[in-house]
Amino acid sequence: MKKNTSRRMFITDSAKATLAITAGLTAGGSLMEACAGPKHIVSSSFGTGFTQEPLPYAYNALEKAIDAMTMEIHYTKHAATYATNVQDAAKAEGVDVSKPLEDVLGKISKYSARMRNNGGGHYNHELFWKSMTPGGTEKPSGKLFAAIEAGFSSFEAFKTQFTDAGKNRFGSGWAWLFLDSDKKLRIGSTPNQDNPLMDVSDIKGLPVLGLDVWEHAYYLRYQNKRPDYIANWWKVVNWEFVQKRYESFL
Ligand code: MN
Repeated sequence: MKKNTSRRMFITDSAKATLAITAGLTAGGSLMEACAGPKHIVSSSFGTGFTQEPLPYAYNALEKAIDAMTMEIHYTKHAATYATNVQDAAKAEGVDVSKPLEDVLGKISKYSARMRNNGGGHYNHELFWKSMTPGGTEKPSGKLFAAIEAGFSSFEAFKTQFTDAGKNRFGSGWAWLFLDSDKKLRIGSTPNQDNPLMDVSDIKGLPVLGLDVWEHAYYLRYQNKRPDYIANWWKVVNWEFVQKRYESFL
């Protein structure tokens, strides 16, 4: 019941409906009605397809944080498999793959565990690759920086809280910076390949930045030292991408 209530709250008033549409959550009566609104409110940040996009840099480009072999295996094996599997699941479950994957994630409770795990896995990694760059800046600027300082008291405090979310996620999962239905920035984590778009998730909203804390993301270089991986990962965050994404949700 709690889950249903929170989902209903997530999509009630028009501002929230707009937010939900931005997320591609086009299921359900009230949302379908709201979908009749102007197309420009559908954010280009939410057009994730079902196939794997090219990695936007070389495998060795992020060496200051992630070694080339980890990147290659992560992209060509782990992430590629999620992409293949979500395509198979879409075929089996009658999903129109010309529509954004976000549509499926928003009502993932209606689909199989295979769709949840691989749809989430594919989505999360597509976002993850874009959220990193070899030439990153140390921090964002503009509206995102201001919102982080307002929401978490300081950028350093934000980094600590996000780092803790990643460090403290037991087993495999992701740490998230996400925008809740009140357009407030929040930090949380999800298990496995879940993410805040999913109706089954304890944390709900629009993913702004996600960090993969599965062992496959760091074990070759860092072994059990997940905190060291996270500390270095900050050096390669693509803040320019993240802040554009954030602004596209406002
Ligand atoms: Mn991964």
